[in-house]
Amino acid sequence: MDFDLPEQALAVREGVAAIAAKYDHAYWSACENEHRFPHEIWADLAEGGWIGLTVPEEYGGGGAGMLDLAVALETLTSSGGTAATFLYILTPGFGAMTLAQHGTEQQKTDILPGVAAGETQFALGLTEPDAGSNAIEITTSSRVDGDELVIKGQKIWISGLENADWMIVVTRSTPAAEAAASLGSRTAGFTLALVPVKEAVAAGTLSFSPIPKMGGNVVTSSQVFLDDVRVPLTNVLGEVDRGFAVLWDVLNPERILAAAGGVGGAEAALRVASEYASSREVFGRPIGANQAIQFPLAQLKAKTELARLMTYKAAWLFDQGRPCGNETNVAKLTAAQVSWEAADRAFQTFGGMAYSQEYPVERLFRDARIGKNIPVAEELILAHIGTQMLGLPRSY
Ligand SMILES: Cc1cc2nc3c(=O)[nH]c(=O)nc-3n(C[C@H](O)[C@H](O)[C@H](O)COP(=O)(O)OP(=O)(O)OC[C@H]3O[C@@H](n4cnc5c(N)ncnc54)[C@H](O)[C@@H]3O)c2cc1C
Repeated sequence: MDFDLPEQALAVREGVAAIAAKYDHAYWSACENEHRFPHEIWADLAEGGWIGLTVPEEYGGGGAGMLDLAVALETLTSSGGTAATFLYILTPGFGAMTLAQHGTEQQKTDILPGVAAGETQFALGLTEPDAGSNAIEITTSSRVDGDELVIKGQKIWISGLENADWMIVVTRSTPAAEAAASLGSRTAGFTLALVPVKEAVAAGTLSFSPIPKMGGNVVTSSQVFLDDVRVPLTNVLGEVDRGFAVLWDVLNPERILAAAGGVGGAEAALRVASEYASSREVFGRPIGANQAIQFPLAQLKAKTELARLMTYKAAWLFDQGRPCGNETNVAKLTAAQVSWEAADRAFQTFGGMAYSQEYPVERLFRDARIGKNIPVAEELILAHIGTQMLGLPRSY
């Protein structure tokens, strides 16, 4: 058993850390407050090859795997850029990894070089007003019409559309009830399609409106209307009616990246809390000398180390092409929890100043909280662990 990170992952950490060091908390807080995409760091990361890290080399990328991508994201969020989790899930995750795994030669040739160059961005349209945790119940439909796929329906909370060139839209080409009867399973009948966002908006078949939200405002998250969006059948990812397998390969990387972002977020919160606790003096001594302040931070440092180990294990298994559902879920659960607990403890450590936008704690606090609810809610992960790892009866 070897717990050392491979040399390549260490090089990723070093390279991303050098760029992250140029963008401090004030930069990320400004982007958040101005609801602005962090174009400057995105361009720097793309130039360094850290956006196209998982794009195969023949399409201009780094040919790296999930472990490297997880380390890159953890390094970014640990520097204070906690909203980078959204950025990495959307384009290097949904875009590069999905296409590398399931794209046709044409799709890869057309799209991946732009991802590697940092010029092409992605979104994923899965969640609907009546189908979040129960993704199997989505009703956005798709039908084949000649050599085109026609998509109709509604999505909600879809992130990054304002900059996205492509949205992977998850549709039902066969409704759930019919799929169970005619195709043998409710997970049959899914079709995933690559929708060119700007073209569909220009054609008047796609529209979206951002939802005002509590944090993560470096990207918008929108309500989306698809009104007979037409794409060529060559834009289907995988096969018509057999998209569920592709969807799983989208969701596992998403959870591993969410875990990596959470581990880094916990580190960021613990670092600002420790610095403040070492310098802030009350009753004639640094508050960090008091065990009521120090021990919770120390406890959370220990939990962060554990979440990191499980995140790396899940990423490593994914890279080996081995089953990683259990490890991925445990990593996502524990990383989201420790990220939130660390942000909450940091908040406590700062006293009244936690509430001031002079310090990054309030932003870290807002960014950390949503990790327990998305991309998959804590309860659904516990349900997975209960049924799959403990053999308990199913509730969902
Ligand atoms: C900021 C943000 C960005 C997002 N970005 C995207 C995106 O880019 N693309 C996309 O497709 N989606 C996106 N989402 C949607 C996100 O994936 C969903 O919100 C998430 O999957 C939860 O679904 P829901 O909100 O419908 O919650 P619901 O499914 O309505 O669940 C509500 C609560 O009930 C609990 N619950 C439900 N069933 C059970 C059960 N059987 N046992 C116990 N508890 C249960 C859940 O755990 C949860 O706590 C985003 C959401 C947010 C907030």
